[in-house]
Amino acid sequence: MLGLGIESTAHTFSCAVIEKKGKKGKILSDVRKIYRPDDGEGIHPREASRHHIEHSSSVLSDCLRDAKISIKDLDIISYAAGPGLGPCLRVGAVVARSLASFYKIPIFPVNHAIGHIELGKLLTGASNPLVLLVSGGHTMLLAFLNKQWRVFGETLDITLGQLLDQFGRSIGFASPCGKNIEELASKSSNYVTLPYSVKGNDVSFSGLLSATKSVAKKSKIDACYSLQETAFAMIAESVERALSFTNKKELMIVGGVAANKRLSEMLKDVCKRHGCKFFVVPLQYAGDCGSQICWTGILESKVKEGVLLKNTFVTQSWRLDSVKIDY
Ligand code: AMP
Ligand code: MG
Repeated sequence: MLGLGIESTAHTFSCAVIEKKGKKGKILSDVRKIYRPDDGEGIHPREASRHHIEHSSSVLSDCLRDAKISIKDLDIISYAAGPGLGPCLRVGAVVARSLASFYKIPIFPVNHAIGHIELGKLLTGASNPLVLLVSGGHTMLLAFLNKQWRVFGETLDITLGQLLDQFGRSIGFASPCGKNIEELASKSSNYVTLPYSVKGNDVSFSGLLSATKSVAKKSKIDACYSLQETAFAMIAESVERALSFTNKKELMIVGGVAANKRLSEMLKDVCKRHGCKFFVVPLQYAGDCGSQICWTGILESKVKEGVLLKNTFVTQSWRLDSVKIDY
């Protein structure tokens, strides 16, 4: 089976083709174009959607060329239907709908967050993990039970990605800033005390963001170091409690922030204490990409027929714990 997946929830427009043989999936191509706002600016939804419109046709044709297939070879088309920015989501949905209706190919709307998890499982081999999803749009701890992902902790305000990006922009980086902050943080080992806020098993980052901006006025490298140490320790505490509670023997990190080495280091320590295997999604597939959407659509096609074109909506706030999973 051959599937095409289209991702356009936020900064990235991406198309990917995956071939499924038995239970295995092989990524034949994954092409991306990422919208980059000016230094110090956040994502402007209308500008990002214009970026996606401008690049959608070249990304699609490069993706098909790399996979060495034509549209007619496709068995299904999937698109990220939410959560995300409305104007951006609509671009991916329009491309998917046009192809599906013209070529008469079944179409599957996919939840973007579940896409991160399913591709993570495919690429790492984790089978029943506690999942830490840390990205621009999510900070959630999840475990699968009775056909649904259940939340065992989440952010009460901004996400871990937003914390890093908003702080990074305040010191002049261009979004996304996580990698720049990681590089600066590695130059310091001077911890400045910052607000640490874990409530129950949820985290809150907004006070930490304001306080870190003040520290940056004296030293940017100390601020980056202290920010990472504090935010990641909060996450590690919640992960540790969730591991004790769920008794899971696997932890898997997915989402763009999974690229951070210091975060992995801290979580590996937690896993060691709990006799738990540690999996992190490969760097190349940590951020948003078409493969996440493609693979999830392929899994759904095992139990569903695809949806009618008139039902191919986008939903800006579509929580992953509301999705029933039958495959
Ligand atoms: P996503 O929404 O899944 O595409 O993830 C994007 C988020 O990942 C942004 O907030 C980035 O700043 C963040 N990110 C990317 N690389 C790193 C890194 N090395 N360390 C921390 N955060 C990162
Ligand atoms: Mg994402």
